Parts: sequence; C-alpha cells; structure tokens
Amino acid sequence: MNHPVLDHDVLVIGAGGAGLRAAIEASAQGANVGVVTKSLLGKAHTVMAEGGMAAALANTDDRDSWRVHFADTMRGGQYLNNWTMAEHHAKEAPARVRELEAWGAVFDRTKDGRILQRNFGGHRYPRLAHVGDRTGLEMIRTLQDHGVHQGLDVYMEHTIVALLVDSGRVAGAFGYDRERGRFKVFRSKAIVMATGGLGRAYRVTSNSWEYTGDGYALAYNAGAALQDLEFIQFHPTGMVWPPSVQGILVTEGVRGEGGVLLNKEGRRFMFDDIPDNYKSQTADNEEEGWRYTQGDKNARRPPELLTRDHVARCINREVKAGRGSPHGGVFLDIAWIKKKLPNSAEHIKRKLPSMYHQFKQLADLDITTTPMEIGPTTHYTMGGIRVDGDTQMSTLPGLFAAGEAAAGLHGANRLGGNSLSDLVVFGKRAGEHAAAFAKQHGAAKIDDAQVAAAETQALAPFDRGTTGENPYAIQHDLQAMMQDLVGIVRQESEMKQALEKLQGLRARARNVGIGGNREYNNGWHTAIDLPNLLTVSEAIARAAVERKESRGAHFREDYPDKSNEYATFNFVIQKAADGSMQLSRVPIPPMPDELKQVVDENK
Ligand SMILES: Cc1cc2nc3c(=O)[nH]c(=O)nc-3n(C[C@H](O)[C@H](O)[C@H](O)COP(=O)(O)OP(=O)(O)OC[C@H]3O[C@@H](n4cnc5c(N)ncnc54)[C@H](O)[C@@H]3O)c2cc1C
Repeated sequence: MNHPVLDHDVLVIGAGGAGLRAAIEASAQGANVGVVTKSLLGKAHTVMAEGGMAAALANTDDRDSWRVHFADTMRGGQYLNNWTMAEHHAKEAPARVRELEAWGAVFDRTKDGRILQRNFGGHRYPRLAHVGDRTGLEMIRTLQDHGVHQGLDVYMEHTIVALLVDSGRVAGAFGYDRERGRFKVFRSKAIVMATGGLGRAYRVTSNSWEYTGDGYALAYNAGAALQDLEFIQFHPTGMVWPPSVQGILVTEGVRGEGGVLLNKEGRRFMFDDIPDNYKSQTADNEEEGWRYTQGDKNARRPPELLTRDHVARCINREVKAGRGSPHGGVFLDIAWIKKKLPNSAEHIKRKLPSMYHQFKQLADLDITTTPMEIGPTTHYTMGGIRVDGDTQMSTLPGLFAAGEAAAGLHGANRLGGNSLSDLVVFGKRAGEHAAAFAKQHGAAKIDDAQVAAAETQALAPFDRGTTGENPYAIQHDLQAMMQDLVGIVRQESEMKQALEKLQGLRARARNVGIGGNREYNNGWHTAIDLPNLLTVSEAIARAAVERKESRGAHFREDYPDKSNEYATFNFVIQKAADGSMQLSRVPIPPMPDELKQVVDENK
C-alpha cells in the first residue's frame, strides 16, 4: 500500500453540527481528533438550517419543561422513538443551547434579554431558540470557531468511500481528496459518523449536494445495522416555482410567525382535517390561531402548525383534488398579517430576512405583499444508523453515529427544530463515548486487502471510460423513480416496481464510466456516490413495503390506518453474508412507568 496513513484516536466523518460537536467533545476528553468533510469547513448542510433549535428553556412560556418536550417528541414520532434518546434530548437540550451562547452564538432576545423562543409545528409551547431565520449559520460559525481553537485536524474536501474493519471492530477509513483525487488511509481507534442525510435520492429536495446517504451505506457495508429507513420526512413547504429552484425550503418559521395555507379558492384547508390526537391542542377558529402565533398563552396553535407529515399530506390532497396553485402547489400567505399589524412589511423582513431575500431573488416575489406558492419537498431522514441510546455506538464496535446519520430520536416523524438540538446533544455524547472507546482499545490493524479492494472499486469508472454508463443519467433516473414510486403517498405495487427498477439501476451503475483525470472530476465523484444512493434507496423501499400501515411520515394508500401490530418494533436492516439486504423486526423495549406518566400527563 502506498497511500499516506493518518493516525487519530477519533475520526469524525462530517463537519456539520453533529460532527463538530462530537469533535469538540472528543478533543476535550484528550483524544487526538481528525475531522473529514466532503465540502469546506463551515459549508456543511447544517449551515442551511433556518427556523431554530428546540429546547425547553421556558423563556417565552414558563409552562414549558423537559417533560412537555419529551411528550411532544414522542407523540410526533408516533411512539416508535428510542425513548432513552428522547429523554436525554429533552433534558439536555437547554444546557447545549446555553453552551452555544457561552461559546459566542448570538441568539435573538426577549425584551428582558433572555434567549427568544418561537413557535414550531408539534411543539406545545414556543420552544425554538433562533437567530432570525439563519440559525444554522450561527450554530456552525460558533462550533467551528470553538473547534478550531480546540486543535482539531480538519481534512476539507475529502470524501470517505469505505470503512476499514479489524476483527469485528472499526479500524479506520479510506477516502480521497476531491481536489487532486489522491487516496488517503485514516487509521483510528473510534469513528463518529456524522454525515447527515440522503435527500439526493429524490428529485425534489431541500437537501444540498452532500446528502447522498454516504454514512448509512458506509456503516451498512461495514456490518452495522440501519433502522427506520421507511420514514422520510417530506417538508410541507418547499418552493415550487420557478422550476430551477423547486424543492428549496421555505422555513416553518413563516407559519410560526402567522403565515397561513390557502388553496386556490382562498380557503384555509388545514381546518378541514385535524387528527384526533391533536384536536384538544389545536385552534378551532382563525382568530384563536392568530392569537397563538402572537404569544397569547390562552390560545391553541393554528392547524398550519400540526406535524409536518400531516400538513404535507393535506397539501398533496388539495393539489390532487384540483384546488392547488398554478404551478402544482398551494399558497402560503404571510402578507395577510397587514390586516393585523400596521408595520407588517418591516416586521416580516425582520423576522424572516432570508425568506424575504430568497423569494425576491429567486422568484421575483415580495412575500410582504404576495402569497408564496409552495409544495412538499424531501427534507429529512428519521431513520439511519442504529445506535445505543446512551453512548451512540452502533452495532459495529468503535463506530458511533450522531445527528441525521443516526436513527432513534425522532421515531416516525421529526418535529421541526428537534434536529439542531439533536446535533449538539448527541454530538456531545458520541464524542465523549468515542474518546472513551479509543482510550480503552488500542489501535486496530489496517488490512491492506480492504484498502486495495476499495481503491479498485473507486477507480473502476476510469477503466470503463466514456463508453460506460453516464453517472448523472443513472442518478437522474433513480431520483425520478424514488419520487414517483416511493414518495409521499405509497402503495405496494409501486414500491415493488421500484425494487425491480433498482436492480436495473444497479446493473447500470456497475457499468458506470467516466473520462478525464482525477483532479476535481465531478463525474467521478458522482459515480462514487451512486452505490450509496442505490443502497439507501433499496433500504427505504424494502422497509416501506413491509410497513403495512400508515404512521408518521410513512403513508400507505393501501393501508391508510395505523395498526397496533406495527407499533411495537423498529425495522432493522443489515447486510447478510451473501451480500443481500435483510430486514428484521426488533421490538422496542417497554417505556418505564415514570416516562409513561410524563406522556399521560401531557396528553
Ligand atoms: C434548508 C433546511 C433548513 C433546515 N432548518 C432546520 C431548523 O430550522 N431546525 C432544525 O432543527 N433542523 C433544520 N433542518 C435540518 C437540519 O439542518 C439537519 O438535519 C442537520 O443540519 C444535519 O446536521 P448533521 O450534522 O447531521 O449533518 P450535516 O450538517 O449535513 O453535515 C454532514 C457532513 O458530512 C459530510 N459528509 C457527508 N458524506 C461524507 C463522506 N462520504 N465523506 C466525508 N464527509 C462526508 C458533509 O460534507 C458534511 O460536512 C433544516 C434542513 C434544511 C435542508
């Protein structure tokens, strides 16, 4: 082997919020830490987060507490959540927010100088600490500054293509630098996978180019188990027009600030369909909904702030019934608040500056005067790498996972704002336990044969040259197929068709070819990402076929109701010895009585 070998106690793959928080913690525990990121430091997908991070600080409404946050998260996740994680998350998020503040994050303020909190779907009280609608930027900037001073080694524009294992534990990772296309071996005693999600498996998505499901596929190929992949969140509000910007997110903060959803008849259709388990918490008239968004503690939330899965399906229904907007969405109107607030234009620009600029620049539309056209967009992966709820270690010893790469916290549906807090709560835990694992276990041995196999596979597209299949064409066909056949409304016959088509796409991917050289060759990078996208797409489709019910983000037209049979286990996916994908049902341990009581008291 003639590649450089870089040694670290803990290697963190991913420099988003989860990766950076894990790296900071591992380093604080005395570990020598390396951080690898596909893009530049500061550019990870977390930077795009808008609305805020959920934590029961109880600054804006003193009725809030970890107990209510826990109950909201479990109800939102339809009780498939890992309740240990939901408990840690609800209890630890406030401390993680204050820690960010101590490290320099400048959150928006209440009049008396505390961290301001805003309303978001599924959260009973205003709970999201935020920085206008640019919360992710502030979070990344803060973590990056803190991490750099902690002495991390950062490998920017490096992509990991395989994990290396030794005697059943993780030993390191193999990757290339995007600029020169040269390979490197990272030898490490523990790894934290913080690679984010897989939105690029779909045609319409809010996700950036980095989200090709690499972490899930890397972990799966190395022998770790995945979980809950059928639960893909379709955010209700993405841009639909013009076509070049389709899918770009319109933050839930718009609805939190009083924005309403209208069909082409001008009717607030969300009042038509309020799920039974949310009826007691939802406003029954428009005036009450407005008062809620303005902080009236006696008012209940408007139906636009029901959970994302439900709102997305209601929008889908309006469009299918021919009551949609001209370009296939519905209307999101914040301009209407001029009837309520004299200085509404300034108010909107101050509360939602990015949304104002986004629509002005990309759609030539002024949101302070005109309703937006929006529709559902692939947004978030609730499933991911199966981890222990306390340590974040996966089923492969030495491999940890945090943030969107990990499964468990969100169950069948994530509440908005619960991801940014997830990143820092479980990033910290993963970093701490990875450092401890590294201390307890010596360096593992790098197997040259594994490195050689990964290198051969990575270079194969060059051998086939431009006569091979075009990687972009396969990616395009995969995205269209997943959008059409395993999308927001699912049925068995279509998903079985998807599984068949996946075999054809895999065959094409085995014959993928590219020209040029290894320097900044985007075609090559796309060819390398393809098998990851195919693996995660297969995992989504297999689990979605088997879940013969509708729950959370997973909606089956052929099984439109929830079924008790499916309420007690997670679907877990592993690679079998023959290379096939195996699905099993793993029971969820019963919730302890004290947590059951928390759920009951918040019904
Ligand atoms: C537009 C938008 C707005 C959002 N707003 C909110 C919000 O207001 N509140 C909220 O809670 N959530 C929000 N979310 C969700 C939230 O932002 C994400 O879930 C979260 O940022 C994911 O963070 P992460 O640390 O897990 O991964 P990321 O921030 O995506 O980081 C992944 C990292 O992994 C690296 N990586 C990936 N693959 C490889 C590889 N093979 N080799 C090396 N490196 C790799 C990437 O380069 C990147 O550095 C939003 C999402 C979007 C798209």
